[in-house]
Amino acid sequence: MNYYSTNKQAPEATLEEAVVKGLAADKGLFMPRTIKPLPQEFYDRIETLSFQEIAYRVADAFFGEDVPAETLKQIVYDTLSFDVPLVPVDPSIYSLELFHGPTLAFKDVGGRFMARLLGYFIKKEGKKQVNVLVATSGDTGSAVANGFLGVEGIHVYVLYPKGKVSEIQEKQFTTLGRNITALEVDGTFDDCQALVKAAFMDKELNVHMQLTSANSINVARFLPQAFYYFYAYAQLKRAGKADNMVVCVPSGNFGNITAGLFGKRMGLPIRRFIAANNRNDIFYQYLKTGVYSPRSSVATIANAMDVGDPSNFARVLDLYGGSHDAIAAEISGTTYTNEQIAETMRETWQSCHYLLDPHGACGYRALKEGLKAGEVGVFLETAHPAKFRDTVEEIIGETVEIPAKLKAFMQGEKQSLSMSKDFADFKRYLLTV
Ligand SMILES: *Cc1c(COP(=O)(O)O)cnc(C)c1O
Repeated sequence: MNYYSTNKQAPEATLEEAVVKGLAADKGLFMPRTIKPLPQEFYDRIETLSFQEIAYRVADAFFGEDVPAETLKQIVYDTLSFDVPLVPVDPSIYSLELFHGPTLAFKDVGGRFMARLLGYFIKKEGKKQVNVLVATSGDTGSAVANGFLGVEGIHVYVLYPKGKVSEIQEKQFTTLGRNITALEVDGTFDDCQALVKAAFMDKELNVHMQLTSANSINVARFLPQAFYYFYAYAQLKRAGKADNMVVCVPSGNFGNITAGLFGKRMGLPIRRFIAANNRNDIFYQYLKTGVYSPRSSVATIANAMDVGDPSNFARVLDLYGGSHDAIAAEISGTTYTNEQIAETMRETWQSCHYLLDPHGACGYRALKEGLKAGEVGVFLETAHPAKFRDTVEEIIGETVEIPAKLKAFMQGEKQSLSMSKDFADFKRYLLTV
């Protein structure tokens, strides 16, 4: 299947080109030419299928024309080596726990899938090494680094701001070694992002080495996120509660929710979506006013959602033909302050004994406030609360148990290279590797 650019000024690309390039030549985002609905027979018996079986059917609709069936099945089954359980928090609200993967956040799904798909293309083409550059403020770096660990033909460079990433997060991408290099930049997250962007623009560097990105702009990271919306529906159907399903997604760059919107286009019976924002409420304001005005992000306790210009907004707009009315008919929005997020975490812990992380708390609260009679809500619990231990412990006033997987990372030895925020230094370094 071909992929077109949301800016419509670049030629269509094959899946392979879209995955290797990340962004279209006109700086638009790639969109699949068609979104194939899945047959009624699939939805009729979805509750009898496993997560991997469901995901393979969805993957086949997107990638089946470009990847041999056995290979695609292997990629899907390897990616989903962990469960995504749907857990009731109260009678009408369920948490879709996306934190049971290796780095305890939903980005594991896309990170693992993209690594395997890119690895397949490199092997098939006998391509020379591909280098993935990724700037991170925390979760993305760990999911991408762990997803790509040991994949032949790929080297990953993780750029992160020195002293601005929690120790738990830092250990998840600095202790791996092998084909993963951590670069500790003396600057902010924005400086890291600027270095990555400058590298993609630099002609000499691109002649020297094949560079690509692994953020949610990449179709191979973004589309697989649709898998678990289907699995959430299957689990709700098993419980006999799937007739009026509402899905709420704590959103930053809007990759996660956009994958869910694709699912709905494929016939998944989701009644409507809610995009939960923290104070970075650009999308919420767009819904209210019809005007999209990006602005600088502000820091919040749900920091993975601190985005001032959500990159996947272009995909949402394209999916609905640019119509604000059409978007607002299927998606509503909410916005919460740090105090509201903390209050929700505290109250849900006290009354339901369910521990939310700051991102999931936005999702839960939006459903609590916004569900109508007869609706059942599912929110995406995007990360394990222990990843934000200091914040969570301060809010609930109790210690948080650290899962064994996280503890194992803590025992590793940090290995990183110091880097200034000066592009000339970064370039000099890359030219020598
Ligand atoms: C990345 C992230 C988000 C935001 O997801 P988007 O796809 O960027 O909207 C929300 N919560 C957590 C924990 C994340 O890591």
